[in-house]
Parts: sequence; structure tokens; C-alpha cells
Amino acid sequence: MTEADHPLLAGLTLEQRDAVTTGASPLCIIAGAGSGKTRVLTRRIAWQASQGNADPRRTLAVTFTRRAARELRARLRRLGLNDEVRAGTFHAVALAQLRRHAADSGRRPPRILENSGGLIAELRPKADRAAVTDIVNEIGWCQARLVLPEEYPAEARSAGRRPPWGRADRFAQLYADYESAKRRRRVLDFDDVLSRSLELMATDPKQAAAHRWLHQHVLVDEFQDINPLQFALLRSWLGPDSTLVVVGDPDQAIYGWNGADPGLIDAVGEHLPGCAVLHMRTNFRSTPEVLAAAGRLLSRSPQPAVRPPGDEPTVTVCDGSDEASVLARAVRHRHRPGTRWRRQAVLARTNAQLEPLRRALLRHGIPVAAPSERSLIRKPEIAALLGAWPADASLASCVAGIGREGRDPESAAAPLAGTPVEDTPEARATVEAFLDFVNDHLTLDPDSTVAAFRTALRADDRAAAPSDGVDLMTFHAAKGLEWPVVHIVGMEDGFVPIAHARTAAALAEERRLLHVAVTRAEQELHVLWCDRRDLGGESVDREPSPWLEMIGTSRRSDDTESWMARNLEGVARARRAIADPG
Ligand code: ATP
Ligand code: MG
Repeated sequence: MTEADHPLLAGLTLEQRDAVTTGASPLCIIAGAGSGKTRVLTRRIAWQASQGNADPRRTLAVTFTRRAARELRARLRRLGLNDEVRAGTFHAVALAQLRRHAADSGRRPPRILENSGGLIAELRPKADRAAVTDIVNEIGWCQARLVLPEEYPAEARSAGRRPPWGRADRFAQLYADYESAKRRRRVLDFDDVLSRSLELMATDPKQAAAHRWLHQHVLVDEFQDINPLQFALLRSWLGPDSTLVVVGDPDQAIYGWNGADPGLIDAVGEHLPGCAVLHMRTNFRSTPEVLAAAGRLLSRSPQPAVRPPGDEPTVTVCDGSDEASVLARAVRHRHRPGTRWRRQAVLARTNAQLEPLRRALLRHGIPVAAPSERSLIRKPEIAALLGAWPADASLASCVAGIGREGRDPESAAAPLAGTPVEDTPEARATVEAFLDFVNDHLTLDPDSTVAAFRTALRADDRAAAPSDGVDLMTFHAAKGLEWPVVHIVGMEDGFVPIAHARTAAALAEERRLLHVAVTRAEQELHVLWCDRRDLGGESVDREPSPWLEMIGTSRRSDDTESWMARNLEGVARARRAIADPG
């Protein structure tokens, strides 16, 4: 058998095969959306393991979200690797390290501040909720950029940021107050988990060596969105025996506003000396029509497609009061009996758009996937389970009781017997999804307590839910994912680009963000916008997104047309009645 016939290399392009098999380290794979970066990452882990080059148990794959970590692990399982590989976010890896360190040194595990907003509100009682959110985000930017309070005024000026609270020096004071309040209370916020782990790598040689041994082979997905704090942590993980592979797409850099530094991938050779760079060109995900629209957004010739031609993207305009019914009809129209609702996604620019849409879609009879792990935690079955487990008990021993036999629908055993959960098929499906989370968590942190698991779950709420439904999420959360049919809603100036994006850099990031949303579509792309909608209790006229034309030409929805027709008919009838009262 030649190398090319090996099942792990089957079906890969030459470029992809190179990326999987090369022994170069550090290695950076720069390639466009849908070109197989994530696929290459998983194949590479499996291939290098099969060749005896990299022990999967000493391999760490870093993803951006928990959902991505779980998908990666599922793909690895299909390639024959059973949960040996660690996969998680920077945050999850760092938190697991801090907990191991605390356990080794006989100390209490770190206490995590779950609601930084609450602490800010205590420090500045006059700040309203929106201001608190802006403050939390700005502090997050500082932490991501390794900016200390006293450095804030100068750094903010050079980055073109306006402080969200008072002048820059007043904001710097608030940031300093926040830092000392955390120290006094001995709590860490989410970014502190990273900086504390970085500190540990620098000051505790034994810990550092143990960490490097355990994570000898490091792979990072979505490298274009890494921030300087995460990058410093990544660097600290590398020892003389380490290997590193990073993959990313500069055209999908969408976290600059939050502190990510796309310069790290743009000048990867400077930041990772000796780094080999590979490119992959072919797009395996989308039709040529979707790729043409994506190319127009980047002012670039489109990626070459493998998929056969499909339909042109559609653009529909309607009145805000019809948005949900127009969308619901579009979704239903594309739903074939016997297929999953999951084949479709509805993507919006802001979180605030999601909840009203979710409720409206449900009212129109369209099932919507639950938005988050948080919502899973809120399910009564899960609350009952978690509630019955002592906070300081070992998570592994708690779940051992509800065995994996629950996964076999034919199983005669009642897997939930002896738990406080009623044993129905729905409850079992929910518990099964929950066990997936638990399992993911335990691969990173085998000694986790129940309390630590709760904290980890709250840390990231972007994740899949068990039941079938249309996926509804923001453009940001859709990164890395794909669906046969994608609906983009709210394609209006003010959403796309978002109103607060004013600088050229911010606008360019907004445009890349739309490009991310568009490139999620495999076969069909449908865009919807409203020329009038209720905002803050007022009906306002809306302009289309300046980038709408790059996707297609607007057509008024039939709903609105028939509504207008009905209305015109009513007006005509009224006129006739007035003219001819007899
Ligand atoms: P993104 O930038 O959006 O994260 P990506 O570069 O990570 O995209 P993948 O998600 O790995 O791309 O791949 C896109 C799709 O194309 C997936 O469904 C993947 O399975 C498929 N794909 C990739 N390479 C091949 C191939 N050689 N043959 C068949 N399908 C492929
Ligand atoms: Mg990917």
C-alpha cells in the first residue's frame, strides 16, 4: 500500500496531504474558509499517531469554543482515536492546570468570579447595565492585550478606542479598583485564569515541565483570532521537545475589537521563528455561487469550488412586523420531511436579535435548537442531577452511577433508575448530551469536582443542544461551523456593520464578519432585511447594509406584497363606500 492509499490520507488533496504528513514544526497552515483546515488538523493528529510520531495522549488541540472542542473530539473518535487526545479552549486548559497545581500543593482550587459585571456594578453603582457590559468588555480588551491600568490611557489612544466610562484616566482607575477588589476577595476572573497559568509556567519549573510533558504536541485552530495573552500562554507551553501546528484564515479575523491580534498570523514567521507556512486553496464546503458572493465581499477572486453549481443567493426585504413570518416560511420551505431541522441555521449580527427571533420562530411552529449549554443546565432533568451531587464530590464518581448504557436506545436497562430523573426518551436524550459535556470536561480535568464542572460550564455558553431544531446564533458563534442552508437576518446598516463600528479597522472587521457568516453556507444562502422595524419602542426606517448588493438584488417578500395588496384592496373598498354610501 502506498502512502496515498492509507485510509487517513484518502480523499485529501496534495496540499492537504502535505499539511497532514509534514514533520515541520512550528507549522502554520493559512487557508480560506471551508478549505479543510479543521479537517486537516484532525487527520494530522490521527496520522501522526498512526505513524508513531506523536502520542495522542500527549496531544492537545486548542479550539475557540467548547462546541468546536466537542466537534473535534467527535471527528477524532470517527478516525479511531477514543478520547485520548485533549481538546479544549485556552481557558479550559489553563483552568485544569490551576486546579491540578492546587491539588498537588494541597491548596483549595481557585475561586472563579463568574459575574464580573456584578463586581463592576458594586464599584460604580451609577453605571447602568449597558455601561457595565461595556466596562467589562473594555477590561477584557486590556487583559487580552496585556495592558495594565496605568498603561490604559496611552494604549487606548494608540488603538483608537474610546473609554466606555468617563475619561481614560477615570476608566484606568476603575480598572485598577476592579483588580484590587478581585485580589481582596481572592477570586480570579476568566482572563486571570490565563494570566495565572502563564505566571505558573514562568515561576514553577516543575509545573511547567509537567505541563509540557503532558502537552507535547500542540495544535491550535482559528489562530487568526488569538490574542496576545493567549499567545504568551501558548509560547510558554512550548519546550525543546514540543511540536506546534497552528491553522487559521486572516480573512476570518473577527475578534480584533476584543483584543485579538491578527498581526500574529500575518507575521507568523516573526512570532514563531522558523515557522513553515503552507497554503490550501480549494474550497470543499460551498457552491460556486456562495463562493462568488464571498469573493465579492473580500474584493478578491473566489476560491475554486469542488461542489457543483447551485442556486444564486436570495435577498429579501420586508417590513419588520413580517420578519418572523417571512423567515419562518423560508425555513419551512427548505425543510424536507425526514431531514433534520439542524440542516439550517439562522444567523444574526447581535445577541439581542436572537431571543425575539427564537420566540417568533417557535410561535410559527419551527423548532429551534436550544442556544446554549446554559440552557441545558436549566433543564429540570439536569438541574435535578446536578442538585443531587455534592459540590466537592468527584465528578467522575458522580457520573459513574448513570452509566453509558443510556446511549443504547434498545437497552432494556433503565439507565436513569436511581437518579432523581424521570426515565423518558426526552430525558434520556438530554442526559446523553449532558454526559457528553461531562466527558469532554473530564478528559481535560480528570479529578474535577462537581463545583469546578459547574464553573467550567458557565464559562462558555456557545454549544449545541440535544434536540433537533434550526440553529440560531450570532455570526461570531457560527465561526468554524457549516450548514447546507444558511439564513442571514437583519442585513441592515446598524447591524451589518454594527452601529458602533466607525474606524476603517472596525469596518473592515465587520466586513470580514459578514464574510464568515456567508461562508457557513454549503448549498443555499438566503439574506433577509427589513426597511422598517420597531427599535426601542419606535418604528424606524432602515437602510440596507452597504454590502447587501455584493450578495444579490433585493426582492420584496410575498408576505409584504400580499399584505399591501390586501391593504390596498381595503382602501379601495373604503373609498368606494365613501363615494357611494348607498
Ligand atoms: P473554516 O475556515 O470555516 O473553519 P475549514 O478550513 O476549517 O473552514 P473544514 O471545516 O475543515 O474547513 O472543511 C470544510 C468542509 O469540507 C467540511 O465539511 C469537510 O469535511 C470538507 N472537506 C475538507 N476537505 C475535504 C476533502 N479533501 N474531501 C472532501 N471533503 C472535504
Ligand atoms: Mg475550521
